[in-house]
Amino acid sequence: MIQFRKVLRDQIEYRFDPLTGAQVRINPARAKRIRQGETREDELDQLIEASRRACPFCPERVETETPRFSREIIDDGRIRIGESLIFPNLNPFGECHAVGTLSKEHFLYLDEFVPEMIRDNLGAATSYIISVHAHDSEAKYPVYMWNYMPPSAGSIIHPHVQILLERQPTPHLSNVIAKSLNYYRENGKNYWACLVEEERGLDERFVIGNDLLSVLASFAPCGFNEVYFIFNGASSLVQLNERQMETFSIYLSKVLKAYKDMGVGSFNLATLSGPIDQSQSEFYWMSAKLISRPYPRGIYTNDSGPMERMQSVWVIDTLPEELAKKIKVVITSGRS
Ligand SMILES: [Zn+2]
Repeated sequence: MIQFRKVLRDQIEYRFDPLTGAQVRINPARAKRIRQGETREDELDQLIEASRRACPFCPERVETETPRFSREIIDDGRIRIGESLIFPNLNPFGECHAVGTLSKEHFLYLDEFVPEMIRDNLGAATSYIISVHAHDSEAKYPVYMWNYMPPSAGSIIHPHVQILLERQPTPHLSNVIAKSLNYYRENGKNYWACLVEEERGLDERFVIGNDLLSVLASFAPCGFNEVYFIFNGASSLVQLNERQMETFSIYLSKVLKAYKDMGVGSFNLATLSGPIDQSQSEFYWMSAKLISRPYPRGIYTNDSGPMERMQSVWVIDTLPEELAKKIKVVITSGRS
């Protein structure tokens, strides 16, 4: 039985993550508060144009201005599938840290990412991960991250993802895997299978799902408009089958359309994948989380402050149950 624990004090909901117990606070009234730093709609166009002129990821420069992998790891020095091109990160924060462009276009709006782009990018990223692991078996925890526009901490406008293959799980992943194992030992069941089943039954935060992948709004989000993708039966990125990648690409493309409808202009996506050299799917299923970030403007009200950075408490202004309704409208509409 999954515990969806929440306490209401005044207008604030204190919610606790059913797996980790992490506290978040939700007050929808905060979404209506005055934000004095929001002006100048034309700034986005100027930012896109100015950055295009010297963009290292645009097709006319990417071949000469980005590094190559050593031939021992990748034969051709880079991996290309469709419009995706994977190459080493010039400024890494991990040992095996690559970058992958998603499109030839310098800028795409949220509703312009078609499923093929995402599928090809995931395929290329997986190919990179397998090649690195074959060369260095200690590198085994993949991270697939997408930072869209500068408020997400993405320094380059051109659509791209970051791919890391780590020797150790990040502290959060380590905690999530350990808690999933505890749940399995105590209940004899897979936490993720239980979560999907209960959310589907409650139908308050469940958006869409099948036997490959489920999409839901997180009960206790640690980001604004947090959407959870849970991959049925796969504990790591390399275990995803073609149909799972295809389904993820279609659903993510649609959720980004819903984000656009909601006025979102920046986001982060990150996977929580288990190790690639063993299957942990008995107790752990891989997931990806998507959160919105502030709209790209010269000066904007940031969505994380001292509570998030220094107290590990996320203060959120949208109820997950409301978010699920908004996304469901788009994802089940048949729009493509
Ligand atoms: Zn570009």
